[in-house]
Amino acid sequence: MVSKEMYELGSKRSVIRELFEYGKQQAAIVGKENVFDFSIGNPTVPAPECVKEAIIELLETKKSDEVHGYTSAQGDFEVRKGIADYMNNTYNSQLKADNFYMTCGAAASLCIALKALTVNSEDEFIIVAPYFPEYLVFVKSAGAKAVVVPADTENFQIQMDLLEKSINSHTKGIIINSPNNPSGVVYSEKTFKYLADLLKRKSEEYQNTLYLISDEPYREIVYDDIQIPYVPAYYENTIVCYSYSKSISLPGERIGYILVPDCVENTKDVYTAVCGAGRSLGYVCAPSLFQKVVLKCLGKTSDIALYDTNRKLLYNELTKMGYQCVKPDGAFYLFVKALEEDDVNFSQNAKKFNLLIVPGGDFGCPGYVRVSYCVDTEMLKRSFDAFEKLRDLYK
Ligand code: PLP
Repeated sequence: MVSKEMYELGSKRSVIRELFEYGKQQAAIVGKENVFDFSIGNPTVPAPECVKEAIIELLETKKSDEVHGYTSAQGDFEVRKGIADYMNNTYNSQLKADNFYMTCGAAASLCIALKALTVNSEDEFIIVAPYFPEYLVFVKSAGAKAVVVPADTENFQIQMDLLEKSINSHTKGIIINSPNNPSGVVYSEKTFKYLADLLKRKSEEYQNTLYLISDEPYREIVYDDIQIPYVPAYYENTIVCYSYSKSISLPGERIGYILVPDCVENTKDVYTAVCGAGRSLGYVCAPSLFQKVVLKCLGKTSDIALYDTNRKLLYNELTKMGYQCVKPDGAFYLFVKALEEDDVNFSQNAKKFNLLIVPGGDFGCPGYVRVSYCVDTEMLKRSFDAFEKLRDLYK
C-alpha cells in the first residue's frame, strides 16, 4: 500500500512536463530544428563565468570536506554572512547571517516557509492568479488550504478588492511572485504599497499576523532599468523565498535561501520554525559546494540581454500578428491571450505546427497560454511562421 495522494501526484505529470516530453518525441520524428518548444522555464543563457571559476578554485584549493562535507543545517555561516552583506549593500537593509536559511532552490524555500507557518488544517494561504502551479501542491503538503484570487487580466497586477474579500480569520498569508511566472509582469510600487496597507489593516482587524511570502527566483531578470524592491521595506512580516536557479542559470544545482528579516514579528520564533520545518522535511544542509559557489558569484547574473532580445522579438512579432499580451518587464515568459476561450484546445492546435505553448488554466488563468522564451534566438525566429499558421486557423 502506498499513499493514494502521493501516488496520484507522482503519476500525473504537470502539463508543462507533458509538453516538454512530447517535444522530445516529436523532435525525433520531425527533427529538432522543426520543433518550437516554449514549454519549460529552463534557462538557456549559460551561467556566468564566475560559476565555473568558483567551482575550479574551490575544488583546487579546498579540502574535500570543506566543499563536499555537511555544513550547518541552516547553511554555512560565511555564506549566509556574505549574502547578508551583499543584500545590505544592495538594499540598505540590516541583515545578518542568522536571517538566512540556505535551501535547495525556491521550491524547497516555499515548502519550508509554508510548513513553518502552518498551525492547523484550517489555515489558508492566498495565491494570486496567474500563479506557479506548484504553489497548490506546496500549500497542500504543508497541511493548509490554498485560496486563489482570480487574475487581473487587464494588467496582471492584483485585483485588490477580490484579495480583500478572500482574507478571513483563517488566513495565514499570501504568496506573491514578482517578476511573475507566467505573466512576466513586475508588480508596481502602487501594488506593493496597497498590498502592504491591506495586510496591515487585516492583521489588525483579525488580530492575526498575516505573512507575505515573496517568491523571488526572477528578482534580477528585469528589463529597461526596472528595479525590484526589497519587499520587507514595504511590509514587515515578509518572508523572502529566493533561488539562484534563474538569475545565474543553476536550476539543476538546487540552491537558494529563505530570508526571515528581523522586522518580522517574533522573528526568532519564525526562524526557529523555519529550521524545524527544514529538518522535518529533510531539507538540511543545502548543497555544500554550491553554497560556496554562490558566495563567490554574489551580484552576478547570466546575460539577461539575451533574454531581452528574445522578449522584444517575440512581443513585437506576436503583437504585429494580432496576438494580445501584456509586455513583460521581467522573467522570461510571455502570457498570450488564446485565440479561443478554450486554452487547452488552443495549445493542442498549436501542436499541429510543432509549437509547444502551455495552457493558462494550469496557472489559474484559463483563456491564455504561456510562451517561455528562454530559448535559442534562432529557434524563436524560425517559430514565427508557426505562430502565423496558428493564427490563420482562427481567421
Ligand atoms: N517559483 C517560481 C515562480 C518558479 O517559476 C519556479 C521555477 O520555475 C520556482 C518557484 C521553483 O524554483 P527552483 O527551481 O529554484 O526550485
